[in-house]
Parts: sequence; structure tokens; C-alpha cells
Amino acid sequence: MTAMLTSGKARVVSGMRPTGQLHLGHLVGALGNWVPLQDQYDCFYFVADWHALTSDYANTAQLTTFAYENAADWIAAGLDPEKSTIFVQSLVPEHAELYLLLSMVVPVPWLERVPTYKEQQENLKDKDLSSIGFLGYPLLQTADVAIYDARFVPVGDDQVAHLELARESVRRFNNFYGDVLVEPQPMLTKFSRLPGLDGDKKMSKSLGNTIHLSDSAADVMKKVRSMYTDPKRVRADIPGTVEGNPVFLYHDAFNPNVDEVNDLKERYRTGKVGDVEVKTKLANALNVHLEPIRERRVELLSSPNTIRDILHDGSARARVIAVETMARVRDAMKLTYR
Ligand code: ATP
Ligand code: MG
Repeated sequence: MTAMLTSGKARVVSGMRPTGQLHLGHLVGALGNWVPLQDQYDCFYFVADWHALTSDYANTAQLTTFAYENAADWIAAGLDPEKSTIFVQSLVPEHAELYLLLSMVVPVPWLERVPTYKEQQENLKDKDLSSIGFLGYPLLQTADVAIYDARFVPVGDDQVAHLELARESVRRFNNFYGDVLVEPQPMLTKFSRLPGLDGDKKMSKSLGNTIHLSDSAADVMKKVRSMYTDPKRVRADIPGTVEGNPVFLYHDAFNPNVDEVNDLKERYRTGKVGDVEVKTKLANALNVHLEPIRERRVELLSSPNTIRDILHDGSARARVIAVETMARVRDAMKLTYR
């Protein structure tokens, strides 16, 4: 029904916050799904600029720069603006209207219970995250996807709880006003939570433990060399632990040479390989993976209008659908003045 386009394809919607450069976590956790889904679904991918404000409201100087660079990275990594609708959240202000209407029916404790709420307040102590905007972040996400009747939302696993809130909120809304909005389901990749270089459980812009898609080959080598690995292994002849070791997790995610990876794991377990060899081979594999992305990114950003035009075109396309949904929502809520 409403979740179908005239093309008959179900809709997929996802976004990223323009709070910094894209990193390897985004590549395997989100983009790893975004790109292949383009052929099967009607995909909408957006720059979540209002979401960036939930934590970075105090300094917005770099927001649009990150927005353009992030969108360039998406396209460099394989998003096709002909196949997917690539847009900016704030250029489709109807998202805010749906968020407001949802906020009337969703209880505050539902939002306080979302695990990332307290977690982020703890992690980002230097920021005052006591705002209404930060509390409402997952509800704005609900509006972002519900406004397009999204069936599926390809995200990393830190977002699963947000989608649970989204489904509960949609159900509550539909209970009051009829079958108006579609319940969204998360879609995860095999690497839905890539750890950080420091061994933290998540590579994250705000934790500064990242390898950026735009890092030079030399920087990638340097960062990989400094990566956290098995701390018990102070010498190369001490047997090491492969399981849960971020260096090997990255090998699994980025090194297509399975024989090389298996050989390294075997020798690591038996104390027959030095960290330098394991890390150099990882950095080389990463650079092979990243080089074509880097090249396309530079090319895309060399003509400043290219990305801007893609984002404006995509936003105009997205807006047509958002406007239709809001007419339906206002009707269902008896907010129509004719
Ligand atoms: P911030 O720290 O500012 O929240 P972030 O690095 O978490 O930044 P987001 O824009 O919040 O980036 O996330 C964009 C998408 O990338 C989300 O779907 C998120 O789940 C996914 N993602 C982010 N980091 C990782 C990671 N380390 N592993 C897998 N997926 C990730
Ligand atoms: Mg995040």
C-alpha cells in the first residue's frame, strides 16, 4: 500500500550526521548496505543536519562543509544520484512538522529510556546535552523515515534501539489516527559495530578513534601502526588472541585476501608473526580499498556545484513525497481547513 512507490519497490531511508569526516565504521556499518540496496529498493539517503545540531549546536561553522564532503564520500563509495534520492534533511522542512505532531502523542519517558540518551550524556561530558532537541533525537529520526513510508532503515547497531522507539511511536500514532504511518525495520550489515582504533567498542566521530575515508595512504599506515591490539603480547614470539582483536576484525572487514588473513591469524596465535607485519598488511589492504574512493571524492569536490546541485535536486524530489505524506497525516488528524 503506502510503502510502495509506483515502481513497486519498497522504500529504504537512512541518514548520517554531518558532524565530521566519514570513517571506516560508516563504510562497513552503513554504506556497506546503502550501496547494494540501490538496485532493489527505492532508496532515500540524507544529510541529517538537524541531527548534527542535537549535539553540535554550539558551533555550526563546519556543518555545511561536512555535509558536502559527506555526500561526496557517499557518491565516491558508490551511491548513484540517478538511482537514489540524496538530500538534506533541513531542505525538507516537513520532517519538522511530522516530528511536532508525533511529539504530541509520544511520552517523554519513552525517550529518556533510549539507551543512547544517557550514554551520550556520559560520553560527551564537555557538551550540555540537556536540551529538548537532544532528548527528541530518536523521535525526529522517526519522522525522518516515517515521512517516506520507509520499510527498511540500513544503520549500524547503535541505532537499533532508536528504531524500536520509532516503531512504538508509529504504532501509538496509528492507534489514535488510523493506519497512517508505516513501521520501519532496521537492516544491519555483517559489521554493524566496527570498533575504534583505540579498542573502544565503537569507531565514532565524537570519540576521535577513526580512520577517515579521506585520510592519505601515509596517515592510514600511521594510524594502523598505532592501533590497539592484544595487550598481553609484548613480544612477537608470545601467542596472541585473534578473537575480538580489532586488528583482525579490520582484516576480516577489509582484506579480501582470505588466505593471507588466515595465515596471519594462525601465526599470531602461535607467536610466529610480529605486529608490524600484521598491521602493514592491514594498512595495505585498506589503502587498496580506499584509493578509488579518495580519487572520486577529490574529483567530485573539485567542482563545487556538483554536490550542491545533487543535494538540491534530491531534496526537491524528496519534498514532493514528504508533502503528500503530510497531507495524509493532517487529514487523518482532522487538521484540514477546506
Ligand atoms: P557521532 O559520534 O557524531 O554520533 P557517528 O560516527 O556515530 O558520529 P552517525 O552519523 O551518528 O556517525 O552515524 C551514521 C551511521 O553510521 C549510523 O547508521 C551508524 O549506526 C553508523 N555507524 C557509525 N559508527 C559506526 C561503527 N563504528 N560501526 C558501524 N556502523 C557505524
Ligand atoms: Mg552516532
